Amino acid sequence: MPNFSDAMAPGAMTLGALWRQTAARLVTLGGGRLGRQEAAREARLLIGYAMGLAPTDVIAYPERLCRTAEIDLVGSFLERRGAGEPLSRIVGQREFWSLPFKVSDQTLDPRPDSETLVQAATDRLRGGKSVKTTPLKFLDLGTGSGCLLLALLSEWPAAYGLGIDVSLGAITTARENAQALKLFSRADFVVSSWGAALAPTWDIVICNPPYIPRHSLGVLSREVQFDPERALDGGPDGLQAYRDLVPSAGYLIGEKGFLVLEIGMNQGDDVVALARAAGLELVDRRPDLSGIERCLVFGAANRA
Ligand code: GLN
Repeated sequence: MPNFSDAMAPGAMTLGALWRQTAARLVTLGGGRLGRQEAAREARLLIGYAMGLAPTDVIAYPERLCRTAEIDLVGSFLERRGAGEPLSRIVGQREFWSLPFKVSDQTLDPRPDSETLVQAATDRLRGGKSVKTTPLKFLDLGTGSGCLLLALLSEWPAAYGLGIDVSLGAITTARENAQALKLFSRADFVVSSWGAALAPTWDIVICNPPYIPRHSLGVLSREVQFDPERALDGGPDGLQAYRDLVPSAGYLIGEKGFLVLEIGMNQGDDVVALARAAGLELVDRRPDLSGIERCLVFGAANRA
């Protein structure tokens, strides 16, 4: 592939020209999947990240001249995008629940579909409770970037949250996110396996576990292949994490709390059966943005 800067008169390119050309390359790389507006947005983010500028500055200073090293860095980002790497992995950041989250190679890339869980949890709690003053307790199992827990804490300003993950790298990223979002005084993050050694009682236990059947890991879409395998691998049938966590999560919500789970395609009935066997009752099931059932909410069968 010719060097990106060679094709563009090195040293003489303005920021405005770099933006236009990067957006055009992204449209080509996307093979028609990326619209012009989305390509212009991605180009702004990639160039801003490469040059240490806010994305808005990329538009604000079109006459600024770019250095060859900056142009080449943008070129290398374009190659990575061309190989299917998500934009969020390149710039290390993803928006979730309208909040910016840092992502790392130890964390799942937060998906818009997972916002369904935040909405379901919030709807479940809202009845009769004051959003501003109720000191709720949220537990996030397999917190990754911390996106589910921190989104919930952003909605409930008197709540406390605990995020658990087996990965120290993920916990470090989640802590950084809590700090950046100014939620750190209400959030703790610890390395542990699911809810082992915790005591009840949590108002919400929320969890997006690994749920991809192991035999499907090799045939995932290109973007998903950049996620850490530990965050995806749900064992031989995709349900292993639910078997491991649902009984203890049932204990952790006590008689009043709710367990909010993300599930993979067609896993609803199996997970409902598993949860029933652990003394839980289904209270809500919701589709994601594509209409695929993505979220199950349970309470104790003998609710107080
Ligand atoms: N959301 C990922 C996917 O769509 C899976 C994440 C998970 O296993 N929890 O493939």
